[in-house]
Amino acid sequence: MISRPCWRTFGRCLWIVFCAIGAPILFAAEPARQGTAPARWPFESQVGAFQVHSDYDVSSRTALLNELAALRTQLAQQLQIRIQEDPIHLILFARHNEYRSYLRLHFPDIPDRQALYVKKRGHGMVFAYENRSIEVDLRHETTHALLNDSLPYVPLWLDEGLAEYFEMPAAERETGSPHRRSVQLRALVGRAPEVTELENIGSIGQMGNAQYRDSWAWVHFLLHESDQSRGILIRFLRELQAHSPPGSFARRLAAEMPDHRQRFLSHFR
Ligand SMILES: [Zn+2]
Repeated sequence: MISRPCWRTFGRCLWIVFCAIGAPILFAAEPARQGTAPARWPFESQVGAFQVHSDYDVSSRTALLNELAALRTQLAQQLQIRIQEDPIHLILFARHNEYRSYLRLHFPDIPDRQALYVKKRGHGMVFAYENRSIEVDLRHETTHALLNDSLPYVPLWLDEGLAEYFEMPAAERETGSPHRRSVQLRALVGRAPEVTELENIGSIGQMGNAQYRDSWAWVHFLLHESDQSRGILIRFLRELQAHSPPGSFARRLAAEMPDHRQRFLSHFR
């Protein structure tokens, strides 16, 4: 166990505890005293499978936390795959400074992002801090957490496309995404993104706004265009879950729906 600067001096105290299987579990709290309960965060709670650790009182975020808990059922229903119930840690900070210091201390190689999903040795952890987009950030990152806990591998474009889709509140997912208008305008002039190009993206650093938008657009098309399009996505995800290499999604789409490009344009016009 490694102890970090004390709560009383720096506003909080950080700990990394390595459990029996060697996996790091993150705690922030006043230091545990001999013979007392293990160190804890100032505020801890459980909502569904999410274990919430925070340096502030998150009771004002109850609606959002309940929404995150409901994401598991929504993913299972819409994607028709089993969503694991392993605990996922939500680590929330009141202020950006504490969030940034914490991540720099524990994950110095991770770039500075507004929110993060980290999976390390089996433990899914989502980090965020209070800001105007925390609701979108948390829905996005917990979608990654739930998917990556449930599937052995998720192609990058699909992982981001699904996270972009599910980051909206449930009632706004079909029609309320900020990507929608841009995709519609492009469809009007005959522009449809190439799935092959999305599939060839090798790292998150190659994902810019256009790639997030295009990944969202194909996920939206697959989920909403027809039973046929939804079936193509569901079968692909189920094969991933069954550890059966599903091959290229672009090739599968071309084989099962040869007119997919035209149907994509019609879907968004
Ligand atoms: Zn993402």
